[in-house]
Amino acid sequence: MEETLLRLEELLFPSIADVAVLSVDVNGEAVKIGARSTSAGAACPDCGSRSSRIHSSCLRFPADVPSAGRRVVLCLGVRRFFCPDDSCARRTFAEQMSGLTRRHSRWTERLRSTLAAVGLALAGRAGARMARVLGVSVSRSAVLRLLDALPDPGDVGPAGGRRR
Ligand SMILES: [Zn+2]
Repeated sequence: MEETLLRLEELLFPSIADVAVLSVDVNGEAVKIGARSTSAGAACPDCGSRSSRIHSSCLRFPADVPSAGRRVVLCLGVRRFFCPDDSCARRTFAEQMSGLTRRHSRWTERLRSTLAAVGLALAGRAGARMARVLGVSVSRSAVLRLLDALPDPGDVGPAGGRRR
């Protein structure tokens, strides 16, 4: 079983470091992947100090890119750490998994870039419709907000179509 789980990590999170897959649960329409970070600590988003002193932990459920026609939802165990720097205004912070999650997002980073690519190709309403075909429920205005948040249209990849 352990070997299978190791292969699952390569399969499900090929570019993400320090991630452990704990479970994969498939029902009729959705895949639920339980995972957590294996890193010893995390860096404070404000001052950059690393901490391994855990304040608490909770579960987060970001939507991920669909697989074989099913919705994919992660069930991520997320730790909250104390910031070790007394001069920092932030007392505690939640860990983010680099390349996978970001603060306050209900999507994984790869779903975010998929939706942004769809939005770039099709814009708001058609983009939202296309996302529903992919099994992701997203509003037209959320698609447009994703486009507004893009730092540089060239970063989105082949679907961006704006490379010179
Ligand atoms: Zn800090």
